[in-house]
Amino acid sequence: MPNELKVLISQEEISKAIDRIAAEIRRDYKNEDPLMIGILKGSFIFMSDLIRKIDIPLEIDFVGLSSYGSGTESSGKIKVSSRLSRPVKDRHIIVVEDIIDTGLTTQHFIEHLKKEKAASIRLCALTEKPSRRKTETKIDYLGFTVPDKFIVGYGIDMDEKYRYLPDICYLE
Ligand code: 5GP
Repeated sequence: MPNELKVLISQEEISKAIDRIAAEIRRDYKNEDPLMIGILKGSFIFMSDLIRKIDIPLEIDFVGLSSYGSGTESSGKIKVSSRLSRPVKDRHIIVVEDIIDTGLTTQHFIEHLKKEKAASIRLCALTEKPSRRKTETKIDYLGFTVPDKFIVGYGIDMDEKYRYLPDICYLE
C-alpha cells in the first residue's frame, strides 16, 4: 500500500457490514424484485459484493454521476457521464452510493427518480460524512460513518487512483 495512506476500515469490517446490509435488504424486498442502481464509478466494488450476499432476485443498472472534478473539493455541479439503460417508472429502486458527503449528488439523482415516477426509492451508502452534509437525504442502509477525511480504496478513487485497494483508507 502507498506510504501516504492509512487503513481506516479493513476489508474484514467491510465484509461484516455487507452481510448486515444484505440481510436488511433481503428482509425489506423479499417479494419486490427491486432495481438496484449504482452510482459510478465509486460504488462498483461495493455493489458487486453486496448483490452476491442479498440472495433474492433483483436487477441492476448504473448511472455515471460526479460532483468532483480533480482534487478533493466538491465542485457542487453534477456531471452525467452515463445514463440509465432502463426505465425506472413503477420500479422499487435502491440507490447505491460509495460515499454521501454533502449529499448533493444523491439528492439530485433521487429528485430525477421521483420525476420519472419510481414506485419507491431507498438509499444504500457504504459511507457517510455527516459533518459536511448540505441536504436532508435519508440513508436507509448505511455501512459506516466516517470522519471528515478524504477516503480512497475499495472502489473509491482520487483522480482515478487507489480504487483497487481492498481496504478503505485515508490520505494523511
Ligand atoms: P456529495 O455530492 O455527497 O458531496 O459527493 C458525493 C461524491 O463525492 C461521492 O460519490 C464521491 O465520488 C465524492 N467524494 C466525497 N467525499 C469523498 C472522499 O472522501 N473521497 C473520495 N475519493 N471521494 C469523495
